[in-house]
Amino acid sequence: MKYYPFNSYMQLQADINSAAAVTCPEKIYLDITEDCNLHCSMCQDKIEMDGKIMPLELFKKLVDETPPFCKSYSLFIWGEPLVLDDFRARVQYVHANKRDDCNIEISTNGMLLSNDMIRFLRRWFLFQRRTPA
Ligand code: SF4
Repeated sequence: MKYYPFNSYMQLQADINSAAAVTCPEKIYLDITEDCNLHCSMCQDKIEMDGKIMPLELFKKLVDETPPFCKSYSLFIWGEPLVLDDFRARVQYVHANKRDDCNIEISTNGMLLSNDMIRFLRRWFLFQRRTPA
């Protein structure tokens, strides 16, 4: 994978304190799916449930290559991340491989927020800097 810094500010940060790499962005959006279970009129894309899901192997490859530098992973762009059958496994994979000061983000339309999913999200997203018990 070839990395590109976001902008000259990131380049400057990397040059000054070496806290970041010039070759890898600190923020990475992993577009794990374009599928969504809603059809909002304001949505920028024509979203459907047609299986546009990032293959798990590609997802793991991207996560494997970026932890030394990445300080934030977002597991969404457009689409609903909770429709993935392996959503929890992906979150746990990122958590197991990220650096301690790196956070994980999602955005959800909330339609699939069962009590069990809420417990999962609270467990893995509210306490990200340490491994949930
Ligand atoms: S929930 Fe988000 S991704 Fe899904 S249709 Fe609505 S705006 Fe688009």
